[in-house]
Amino acid sequence: MKIKLYQDDIPKNLKLGKIVAIDTEAMGLNHKRDRLCLVQLSNGNKTCHLVKINDVSKKPDNLLKILKNNNILKIFHYARFDVGILNFTYGINIQNIYCTKISSKLSRTFTDKHGYKDLCLELLNKKINKNEQTSDWGTKKITSAQQRYAATDVLYLHELRIKLNEILKREKRIEIAQACFNFIEHRVKLDLSGWPDLDIFKH
Ligand code: MN
Repeated sequence: MKIKLYQDDIPKNLKLGKIVAIDTEAMGLNHKRDRLCLVQLSNGNKTCHLVKINDVSKKPDNLLKILKNNNILKIFHYARFDVGILNFTYGINIQNIYCTKISSKLSRTFTDKHGYKDLCLELLNKKINKNEQTSDWGTKKITSAQQRYAATDVLYLHELRIKLNEILKREKRIEIAQACFNFIEHRVKLDLSGWPDLDIFKH
């Protein structure tokens, strides 16, 4: 794995291709309270690009260009969180989303283990450790252990998507998965408009 760390934005000439894995780290899990600290990107070629966000009021133009490009498929694990915080922070509506957590829930119904770590182990036989998950991402300099952890979170998303799509296809659930991905932008709007815990379809 190769890690590239940038401050505030990616370089203008960085080409990541048509399928980009994305993850974010924040001070916590509450979009309105906890600021965005890091955005991780990978094109699936074992290189991870980390963007340290030092000031959320500054727009990272090159990064936003990728996020707003609807021709680029963006792979997340639990897209609802990342799409939500990126929407809240930059006012952008990310589309063309793939979520490995939703795919896993729809395809791997024999288990309730749908975490990134679980999927990496069970589908790719890769062991990853989650030790830095709850560390302080707000510091100006992040440690090399934090960088490795953050980079690993986008490292395997392309491979996971391929494995999960095989099961979804076999079980004829590609369409329902796509419908769920398409709904993420609306789920995020509900989250940010005051209905974070409501299942709107529930009786
Ligand atoms: Mn992460």
